[in-house]
Amino acid sequence: MERKSSSTNPTSMAYKNAIEQLGLKDNIAKTLEIPDRELTVEVPFRKDNGEIDSVIGYRVQHNNTRGPFKGGIRFHHHVDIEEVRSLATLMTWKTALLDIPYGGGKGGVAVNPLNYTKTELERMSRRFFRAIDPVIGVNVDIPAPDVNTNAQVMSWFMDEYSQIHGYSPAIVTGKPLELGGSEGREAATGKGTAIITRETANKWGINLKKSKVVIQGFGNVGSYAAKFLNEYGCKIIAVSDVSGGLYDPNGLNINELFEHNRINKTIKGFNQGEKINNDQLLALECDFLIPAALGSAVNRNNVDSIKCKAIIEAANGPVTGFAADKLWSRKIAIIPDILTNAGGVTVSYFEWVQNLQQFKWSESDVNRKLEEKMIKSFEEVYSIKQSKNVPMRIASFMVAIDRVASAYSLREG
Ligand code: NAD
Repeated sequence: MERKSSSTNPTSMAYKNAIEQLGLKDNIAKTLEIPDRELTVEVPFRKDNGEIDSVIGYRVQHNNTRGPFKGGIRFHHHVDIEEVRSLATLMTWKTALLDIPYGGGKGGVAVNPLNYTKTELERMSRRFFRAIDPVIGVNVDIPAPDVNTNAQVMSWFMDEYSQIHGYSPAIVTGKPLELGGSEGREAATGKGTAIITRETANKWGINLKKSKVVIQGFGNVGSYAAKFLNEYGCKIIAVSDVSGGLYDPNGLNINELFEHNRINKTIKGFNQGEKINNDQLLALECDFLIPAALGSAVNRNNVDSIKCKAIIEAANGPVTGFAADKLWSRKIAIIPDILTNAGGVTVSYFEWVQNLQQFKWSESDVNRKLEEKMIKSFEEVYSIKQSKNVPMRIASFMVAIDRVASAYSLREG
């Protein structure tokens, strides 16, 4: 599973290597690994036929040294405490890396949403939020959407919390615009990915306008990354989704494909490009390979077929630790997920700030601030990579861990 093989797993070699490079004392390193609080709740709810069903939910609060816990809530039948803990930890490093005044948290409910009606899911969502109410708060812990949760679920969460505590849009992010959601949130992770790709091109001496890009996954992240990279002048030669891939060495028409995908929710049926499978897609010769779908997409079985100059990790943990080491020895750059896909949490933070200010920013304001944050973080990581001669993933952990450890030492006095 993703969490066990992901190279950005909190107990991965890259993490341990970063701790060593920083010379962090064992007692501090240990403190930073242990979550502050883990809550397991039973979530009973009534089904449409009148019967009571019950599922298990979790909220893990990993670390709040630099600010309130922050992280999504996912609904998935594979959710367990180990997975939620691992994801909560990653959020601590991601928010620290972007220098957002948050800590890290994550939640989940072990449920297959496809087995329930919308009204059943609403009752379950509201009941889960009531169950975690004692540990969340506008300045304490701010959930967000994740796998199988969306703006509608956030609306139920916000409503449930507001019924108890008074109108509180800042209790969750990823809300619809009508309820205090932020302009630019939907595109943020893909936009951040495109910005990071552009910055990588600059540092690695790749001509962006002549670059060839391959993207695995054409959902929220992959499709927006393609859209913005296309605007930067890159040639997107192949994309894929769960139905398979499309390849055109002269570049796909991304504007038309984006529209096709928006309407049909799949790239299937698009009338351009040669059909290829996901294995063929990953093995294409290109400048940038952007895995934006699954964890462990590049692994020990296919790493030798990779022929790109850089992998931009848009998904969480798409390159396993084993594959990352092999790619480092072949001088293929990997720009890690905690940097690449942090555009989403960054604009979530902007949403929270707008809610607290009770003042709405324009889309151009949001995008300008997002751009500034992504570039600054990229530069910080790149400078550590250069000075210490470590891969970008270790440098990212070093920046993030150092920030949390310094804040921790100051607070603990
Ligand atoms: P999504 O559900 O919108 O899209 C996922 C895409 O991957 C779809 O096109 C789907 O068809 C495709 N896919 C699924 N299985 C595949 C397979 N076997 N081969 C090829 N393609 C496959 O999800 P998303 O929001 O775009 O998230 C993608 C990744 O980015 C996930 O790893 C997610 O955790 C991560 N991420 C997303 C955000 C965000 O803001 N959406 C933020 C941080 C990280």
